Amino acid sequence: MIRDILTIPNGKLRQQSEEVKTFDKNLESLISDLSQTLESQTDPPGLGLSAPQINVFKRVFVAKIKNRIKAFINPKISKFSKKEIAYLEGCFSVPDLYGHVTRPAEIKLGSQDRHGKKSKKSYKGLPARIIQHEVDHLDGILFIDHVHAQNGKIFKVEKDKKGKEELVEAAYV
Ligand SMILES: [Zn+2]
Repeated sequence: MIRDILTIPNGKLRQQSEEVKTFDKNLESLISDLSQTLESQTDPPGLGLSAPQINVFKRVFVAKIKNRIKAFINPKISKFSKKEIAYLEGCFSVPDLYGHVTRPAEIKLGSQDRHGKKSKKSYKGLPARIIQHEVDHLDGILFIDHVHAQNGKIFKVEKDKKGKEELVEAAYV
């Protein structure tokens, strides 16, 4: 089922999500809802979606890794690289706004699959970026928090006179 996505300033986005302890049908339907909702977003297309964004406060997210949607349960980042990179981020819970966030370039992630099977894997590039953004959601953190902490700017997409989209600086959110 495609679910509504919570957006700022809804305070629920700031809630801590709880660990998943039972790997049952409820979890299966949560993963299915997250995947369908992520795929329903086409403008812009979605790269990841976390359970709290659809009003379910469990430590679950889905992410598009190499063009396939993968579910991550109870994710925990155990290692961050010293090397950091800046990348323009956006979020369905922060509609139409973008900002550069500097984050570690590589991470090591421990997580469980839908059956509870544990695994550990290293990620770099875009997958490392998506995973860090989604894990933040489980702790009530939004990318705009990092932009502000890093003294960055928030941009919004505006159309110019010819209808061409461009990024312009937005007021503080
Ligand atoms: Zn997000």
